[in-house]
Amino acid sequence: MRSGAGGKSISVPLRILDKCYVCASVKGLRVCNSCASRIYCSRECQKKDWKEHKPWCSATVQINLKVFYPLIAYMMEFMRCVTSQFHNVLPRPHPAFNHKIIRAPLPGVRKSTESDSPIHHTVTLGARHTITDLSGWWKAGLRAHGDAGCLKLFHHCGREHSVYKIIIATTLALLAEVYSTYHVLTSEPPFVIEGNRPRFRLEYGKSPIADFGICKGKVRGKTHRVQTWTYYDPATETRTTPLDPENHYWIYFKALSGEELVLDCCSYSFGMEATVDASPCLETLPPMMCIPGSSRVPAYLRSSRDTGGGDKLPYTLVEEKRFSVMQNTELQKAIATEVDPRGLAKDSDEVKIVRAFMDEVLGEACTDYDVEAMLWWRMNGAGILREVLTGRSWLEWEKPMMHQKSLFDCGENLYDITTKGVKDISIFYQN
Ligand SMILES: [Zn+2]
Ligand SMILES: [Zn+2]
Repeated sequence: MRSGAGGKSISVPLRILDKCYVCASVKGLRVCNSCASRIYCSRECQKKDWKEHKPWCSATVQINLKVFYPLIAYMMEFMRCVTSQFHNVLPRPHPAFNHKIIRAPLPGVRKSTESDSPIHHTVTLGARHTITDLSGWWKAGLRAHGDAGCLKLFHHCGREHSVYKIIIATTLALLAEVYSTYHVLTSEPPFVIEGNRPRFRLEYGKSPIADFGICKGKVRGKTHRVQTWTYYDPATETRTTPLDPENHYWIYFKALSGEELVLDCCSYSFGMEATVDASPCLETLPPMMCIPGSSRVPAYLRSSRDTGGGDKLPYTLVEEKRFSVMQNTELQKAIATEVDPRGLAKDSDEVKIVRAFMDEVLGEACTDYDVEAMLWWRMNGAGILREVLTGRSWLEWEKPMMHQKSLFDCGENLYDITTKGVKDISIFYQN
């Protein structure tokens, strides 16, 4: 019954409080807190409407971002790792994974001094190489870093690619899975009814999320200095800089209360190394959706109301443009149909709309590869979300701990990774 013959449609909460649903008054407006879909001017009006509204409203389940954001961060980490784990379509995304490494600085946080200008690093690449185990990859010239340092470089590179595609894939998966309503056709009136899946709504604290999407802008150092990495291949004299702090992307959420949240899970490679513990989420996922190794994934969450103690971010995000995903009606229509990348119909209306959105976010025309990669990642992200939403396990999750120190700096489990563990991770990062 779940996906019924009627299919799926996207329904999002109200974005603004315009008038009372019952009496059309514009004063003292409040939104129904449990569904975020009805506006009332008073308790009286809410009471009057309750009989009609109750069945619809009580089928709503809230997802609080305070406990849920590690899962979103994990989705992005998973996408970065499974470039083509299940399918042989996506080439390895990072130049360092196709070569031996001759010389590289050790990745890590660099605290700000007087200068807040970026630090530029260069990694020198050696002969072409396919990673089977890490010792072959870092053998030449990296001894000084030790195994933990080399593993750190490996993680650094694994997280240094495809930011805008992964963010688009993540936000589209959120819209498609959290805000979808399934229709079921019936043989008697009213002929179309809602499926028996609950309606989900994101919230922050007690306020429903009324909009979310993608921000584009610059990363500026504050207590930490911004670092950029270039990979130099002397054989072909090519230099590749996978990520640019002048062109960064992150996710915003806007609550109906006006509070705004920034979720940045992709600044790790710029030397901003906070992580969040995603282990409660991982416990609910099947093994094929779990990355071996650590459950700590890069994430910074900041609210516009975090004032005491100042801005938690050790860097500044300078927003230049924002693109709503939740309130984009074209996208809502396009993603109601899941596009299977295996049978990719490039000229279907769905793919055209998604592609136009990608072009808009990128600021130039994206390639066929970009579209295909994004659709794969979206499918992976949607799969993870579906698992968790079905189990409803987040209702028991506690507010997660954010770790400002790198895993590597606080002696945690990555030091203990055995050769087998390293091999498992390398399978995720390449192949
Ligand atoms: Zn009213
Ligand atoms: Zn309601």
